[in-house]
Amino acid sequence: MTAVHTPGAPWIEDGELVSTNPATGAEAGRFPVASPDDVVSTVERAREAGRWWAGLGFAGRKERLLRWRALLAQQITELADLVNSESGKPVAEAIVEAVAAIDHVDWSARNARRVLGPRRVRTRLVLAEFSAHLEYQPFGVVGVIGPWNYPVVTPLGSIAYALAAGNTVVYKPSEYTPAVGQWLVDSFARVVPEHPVFQIVHGLGDVGAALCRSGVGKVAFTGSSATARKVMAACAETLTPVLMEAGGKDAMIVDSDADLDKAAEAAVWGGLTNAGQTCIGIERVYAVEPVYDAFVAKVVERAEKLTVGPGGGADIGPITMPAQLDIIRRHIDDALARGGRAVLGGPESVQPPYVKPTILVDVPEDSAAVREETFGPTLTIRRVRDADEAVELANAVSYGLGGSVFGRRRAVAIARRLRSGMSAINSTLTFVGMSTLPFGGVGNSGFGRIHGDDGLREFGRAKAITRRRGPSLLPAQTFERTPKDVDRIVKVVKLLYGRTR
Ligand code: NAD
Repeated sequence: MTAVHTPGAPWIEDGELVSTNPATGAEAGRFPVASPDDVVSTVERAREAGRWWAGLGFAGRKERLLRWRALLAQQITELADLVNSESGKPVAEAIVEAVAAIDHVDWSARNARRVLGPRRVRTRLVLAEFSAHLEYQPFGVVGVIGPWNYPVVTPLGSIAYALAAGNTVVYKPSEYTPAVGQWLVDSFARVVPEHPVFQIVHGLGDVGAALCRSGVGKVAFTGSSATARKVMAACAETLTPVLMEAGGKDAMIVDSDADLDKAAEAAVWGGLTNAGQTCIGIERVYAVEPVYDAFVAKVVERAEKLTVGPGGGADIGPITMPAQLDIIRRHIDDALARGGRAVLGGPESVQPPYVKPTILVDVPEDSAAVREETFGPTLTIRRVRDADEAVELANAVSYGLGGSVFGRRRAVAIARRLRSGMSAINSTLTFVGMSTLPFGGVGNSGFGRIHGDDGLREFGRAKAITRRRGPSLLPAQTFERTPKDVDRIVKVVKLLYGRTR
């Protein structure tokens, strides 16, 4: 593939993947594309390295992962500049992203032994003559497939946890951000030079598909719901387990006792950060009748002040994937054609490669802007009767990733009722940086969890061991038992379980 290139989109030239800055079109990186055989041999090297890595134990891995965390922290501005030059993300936003990622490396390294290490678990009266032991053993090689929109925290949310659990990793970054992926791999190799514990394969979707079929022990995928289905289908061929972190259409609910200034500030950041290209970005807001007008005014007042443009310093940078501009335009046009109003921006906001903040109201609930992932700096805001109606509408889409509630009295109850994996009360997106909490979705947003204890367990196979510690008083699991033994077993079971309480 050569000849005509869409500015900002990657292309392949002479066997190399070329990534570009979406704002300027400047080349950001050039990397050899992996063939299916390359993918298999990379996984094979990872498997060998895995014996050494797993053999280091939790303490040895922790020590190395903490050294990596220190290097990432020391070089955070270099990393943020690279994210900016390859994806267009403003530098400050890239730093915020990297901070969350660094905390995940730290937390997973420090907690892997507690969550996954060997331990005794309690036994029951039945089989009391045995002790019970549990540990989580690594899969071997974990294949990680990542998106471009958060090219640091998204892959590291899987990679750090997989490594801490004792796996080696082969990473296929998005074709839009290969240079950031390569930087992460190179920085790890500086602190762990001995073996290829964390490797990368570059290319388009077919390289991701090859990784699914390469014999890895598990695939951790983050990307769109459409690709998630293809990844699952490929992994189904070999019963390779998968973790699916897919798209979202997150809602914010503003209740009558909310602090409206804080709610508006959070809606604008949660909806428009990274130009709206955020899986857990707020795309829809439901504000209750008594506060609706004031809330909309406060959102517009803040959103219209945001700066849009090139360079690392603007509030809103370019749309990274040129093809997304058509989707954003379609959602705005459709919303307006169907009776919606733009209280800020509108069709003229789409000025490739930028989209200016656009706030839409009165948009029908069955329109694309409300039901599909827009992935642009747009928000729909709808007036609702009360919090019950807000929850009903928020839950009426196929996605269920995160969400936000502003309010006091009913906020916790509303947050619990949102059909999503995470909810933030009186803030937005906070949960992604909370390393102690699991992260993941329901429905079209996927399944499985990264981060927190659950995120560590996602990268280990439960291994259960029982050990005899004395003779059996009621021998059951043997042909040596007598009819008398069986009678006694029946008596005991009635004694233990025959009551209703
Ligand atoms: P995408 O699905 O287009 O691509 C994701 C990755 O999959 C890329 O590396 C791509 O090369 C690879 N891929 C494409 N086809 C493949 C195939 N057939 N087999 C294997 N791999 C294949 O997604 P994207 O545009 O890079 O990312 C944006 C999407 O990711 C949005 O939907 C966003 O909501 C979602 N996302 C989700 C989370 C989350 O944690 N749930 C986080 C960030 C982004």
